[in-house]
Amino acid sequence: MNYHILNKDGLDGFIKKLSKKMKVYAPVSKGHGNFAFEEVSSGAQVALKYIPTILPPKKYLMPQREKMLEFDVTGERPVDTAMLEAEEIALFGVHTCDLAGIQCLNMVFSERPRDYNYLLRKEKLFIIGLECNTYCDEHASCALVGNQLPNGGYDLFFTDLGECFIIHVNTQKGEDLLEDMGLPKAFPADMAELTRVREDKKAIFKNEIGVEPKKLPEIFEKAMNSKVWEELGKRCLSCGNCTNVCPTCYCFDMADTVNLDLKTGARSRTWDSCQFSTFAAVAGGEDFRPDRSERQRHRFSRKFKFPLDKFYRFFCTGCGRCTRTCMAKINLKDTLKALAAEQR
Ligand code: SF4
Ligand code: SF4
Repeated sequence: MNYHILNKDGLDGFIKKLSKKMKVYAPVSKGHGNFAFEEVSSGAQVALKYIPTILPPKKYLMPQREKMLEFDVTGERPVDTAMLEAEEIALFGVHTCDLAGIQCLNMVFSERPRDYNYLLRKEKLFIIGLECNTYCDEHASCALVGNQLPNGGYDLFFTDLGECFIIHVNTQKGEDLLEDMGLPKAFPADMAELTRVREDKKAIFKNEIGVEPKKLPEIFEKAMNSKVWEELGKRCLSCGNCTNVCPTCYCFDMADTVNLDLKTGARSRTWDSCQFSTFAAVAGGEDFRPDRSERQRHRFSRKFKFPLDKFYRFFCTGCGRCTRTCMAKINLKDTLKALAAEQR
């Protein structure tokens, strides 16, 4: 185990040094209790205590709009050129729920056919996690899905020990950076303090819905015709906000734009949402999920049922963003509790 120490008053110097090596993005306060990952160059800009940012770190791995290729059909044979662009960046202060979100996306985009745009960006990303010692707010449900503790997916991981941060080094890239920064190794007393912080967390973070996580897939299995979906369908506005802000939603649409010469153009992808009425419509006028209730059932099943069959993990990280952003006040924890109550 490799741990180092950074005194709190050294954070500014750490961020400044890091930002000389690569662009650094970190949570920044946007006012009215909102936060966003933005470029920073000093420790003073970083919000160390923050509720999950409006958009999760997925925006750095899979931008909202991305050019995939350029094409040219001027010659005898059409030519297309793939666009693969990524720069080395550091993400500082990623909470454990968002680390889990990145891990989910890594699994999806590593499947064949691999998504090289995503994977290249991932390779260039230096990730520094930051532990939550208490809940960010009442909408979080990280303990339900076991994401209240770090579980990999980072180069370095910071835990606040009061006067200092203890830093877990998880990769060679992380080791190299700390060596360069000249940070001292942790002492046994620091390790004992880390253990105490984690012990305290056991009393703070508890399963937030009072239902055994392993029962959730079965609950969803039996909830195909649940009244809960009807009720959500009546309230949902199909705005797609819940999926845009979700760290594990990755659906996208592709469209070609042809230039005025009608010979050249580009193919781009943009985020899409299973909550839009057009999402499951196909040629011929068929729509596989015309009702909002069906779309809501689909969204929740994509978090608590389908990915368990395929990836053996929940695709809900417990970040609470969907609940915070929903204009119809559709609440993830209440929905899970209502589904469980129906089957009691
Ligand atoms: S954010 Fe709320 S209203 Fe909008 S699509 Fe999602 S559940 Fe429906
Ligand atoms: S479903 Fe909601 S709480 Fe779960 S990961 Fe997505 S946004 Fe976060």
